[in-house]
Amino acid sequence: MEIAVISHDGKKAEMVQFLMDNKTLLKQKDIHIVATGTTGLKAEKAGFKVTRFLSGPIGGDAQIAVRVVEGKTAMVFFFRDPLEKHPHEPDISMLMRLCDVHNVPLATNPATAELLIKSI
Ligand code: PGA
Repeated sequence: MEIAVISHDGKKAEMVQFLMDNKTLLKQKDIHIVATGTTGLKAEKAGFKVTRFLSGPIGGDAQIAVRVVEGKTAMVFFFRDPLEKHPHEPDISMLMRLCDVHNVPLATNPATAELLIKSI
């Protein structure tokens, strides 16, 4: 199962905490983590094996959106920072829209992520 993790700068610490809290589950052989560039780097530093795409602002969100569209990514954990402006807002909206179009579960905050990951 492929899961995607993305987090805005103000939410990266929470993403790493979320990954660590669910380390046993996420390190299972059949779980494959993909991530935007900087989020992926943080996850790698925390000891996870990750396929990293470009950083979000230069197309990483779009790359993950493609995986959603192609049916490769089963679940998206996208910790957004609602208190910051993002130059790649159109890509963020696109990713969220395509999750809805393709009925792919999307958690945009840690509380929802905790509920969603319990379903794996
Ligand atoms: P990043 O991208 O993981 O490369 O920081 C996330 C984003 O801003 O969409």
